[in-house]
Amino acid sequence: MNHTRPAPSTADATYAQRLEAAFAQLRDLLADRASAGESVRAIHGRDESWHAPRMPDAVVFPRSTAEVSAIARICHAHRIPMIPFGAGSSVEGALIPTHGGVVIDTSQMDKLLSLNPGNFDCVVQPGLLRRALNELIRDTGLFFSVDPGADASIGGMTSTRASGTNTVRYGTMADAVRGLEVVLADGRVIRTGSRARKSSAGYDLTHLFVGAEGTLGIVTEITLRLYPRPEHIISATCEFPDAGAAVDTAVAVIQSGLGVARLEFLDEVMISAVNQYSRLELPCAPHLFFEFHGSPSQTSEISELVKAIAEDNGGTAFACATQAEERDRLWRARHDCAYACMAYERPKRMMTTDVCVPLTELADCMRAAREDARQAGITAPILGHVGDGNFHMVLLIDPDDAEQVQRAEDVNRRLVERAIACGGTCTGEHGVGLGKREYLRIEHGEALEVMRSIKTALDPYGLMNPGKVLPEPLPVAAPQA
Ligand SMILES: Cc1cc2nc3c(=O)[nH]c(=O)nc-3n(C[C@H](O)[C@H](O)[C@H](O)COP(=O)(O)OP(=O)(O)OC[C@H]3O[C@@H](n4cnc5c(N)ncnc54)[C@H](O)[C@@H]3O)c2cc1C
Repeated sequence: MNHTRPAPSTADATYAQRLEAAFAQLRDLLADRASAGESVRAIHGRDESWHAPRMPDAVVFPRSTAEVSAIARICHAHRIPMIPFGAGSSVEGALIPTHGGVVIDTSQMDKLLSLNPGNFDCVVQPGLLRRALNELIRDTGLFFSVDPGADASIGGMTSTRASGTNTVRYGTMADAVRGLEVVLADGRVIRTGSRARKSSAGYDLTHLFVGAEGTLGIVTEITLRLYPRPEHIISATCEFPDAGAAVDTAVAVIQSGLGVARLEFLDEVMISAVNQYSRLELPCAPHLFFEFHGSPSQTSEISELVKAIAEDNGGTAFACATQAEERDRLWRARHDCAYACMAYERPKRMMTTDVCVPLTELADCMRAAREDARQAGITAPILGHVGDGNFHMVLLIDPDDAEQVQRAEDVNRRLVERAIACGGTCTGEHGVGLGKREYLRIEHGEALEVMRSIKTALDPYGLMNPGKVLPEPLPVAAPQA
């Protein structure tokens, strides 16, 4: 499956001349931090998705906002596409340079710029990885809460509006980002938001760029909200006779308002995959994984109440852990999921899909998806941040088997349409990238035209990560003669 449109780029002499001129200026600016080497371009032409890779024309490694601004001015003048790049862990093809152009790799912009424990915030450059940030602030007693599993960059997480296992308690990147510095397509630098906890001052530009997947500008600084480390943590797992019983338990736990910090679901196929990958011996049954944060008495009280709810729904083998090592052991299966899926039916690839629905619709939506995949004859382990109504189905496919890919795409499409029809969304956290563009019109209707107007206003030549997010994207414009 190849989503690459014939690029107006490499075959086009005019584009080639513009690119040559732009690259000469980028070399003047950055010396060997501007590269057109094949291996560097190959690394920056793919992400962790199943979408076909495509090499960019060049890759640059800026170290400051001023350099990003200068890069944007050069690319803007020569009408060369720009694709911001964080850690490359996108799973919807958001990074693939389908129109060629220059990849702006932010990995050398990885500084913690300021840390303000009294205000529970910090300011970081976009290339800082989330685990490194947590290491840097460890001694303050604070932590950065958003945990998408992969060791993603803060800029990439901001731009995909990432979330993960902690979201049910601490929120998504939309909640974590208080303000931004952004370089626009023409090189202008703007600031959005502030370090204040709230503001009524004008349009909320911060949240326009959060989740924009690099299509509106390049994020160069992020002000992040931090949380105090919990005094005490209890982790727990519980197995269930069927997926419905597990999901009903998750919904009941959320509706009871007990305030869990993590609430994750793995179906029996996913458990089988992690058993095989991590040499575990978990019973091949649907499981819920929990985490409770608070004082020792609060967490043990919540744990007892959750255990009772689980047992009411047929849950068994409720196992708790308080020591860090024990907790890690319990969570190993959850954290190994992606790699376990990759290994389960090797050399098949993962077509990962991600929907989010109202909690009350979760059980029906997941049941229908499982049945659909079964009828299509596709192995499709499921895991979910079910406390948020969010789940991922990992369709294992042979990319060279067009008929199987088509069946998997049909399962994905029906899942997404069901999710939207019941009041949900085509992506809870992975973003639109290439894979979910076609669903935006169904989900947003006329509001999609408003999004297109915003894109046109901020990036009239369609240079910022072209071909992503919006269906029927703007053509990439050449400069006037
Ligand atoms: C094993 C695994 C597990 C995952 N689990 C989760 C999960 O639980 N939850 C979740 O949300 N995601 C998950 N993901 C997906 C991925 O980790 C997230 O989408 C993450 O936010 C991407 O961050 P990144 O730094 O890798 O960004 P990249 O993949 O490099 O980029 C992602 C997008 O952001 C844009 N971008 C990057 N940096 C900037 C910038 N500075 N300015 C503007 N745009 C920028 C890019 O152009 C691209 O469109 C998972 C991925 C893997 C491989």
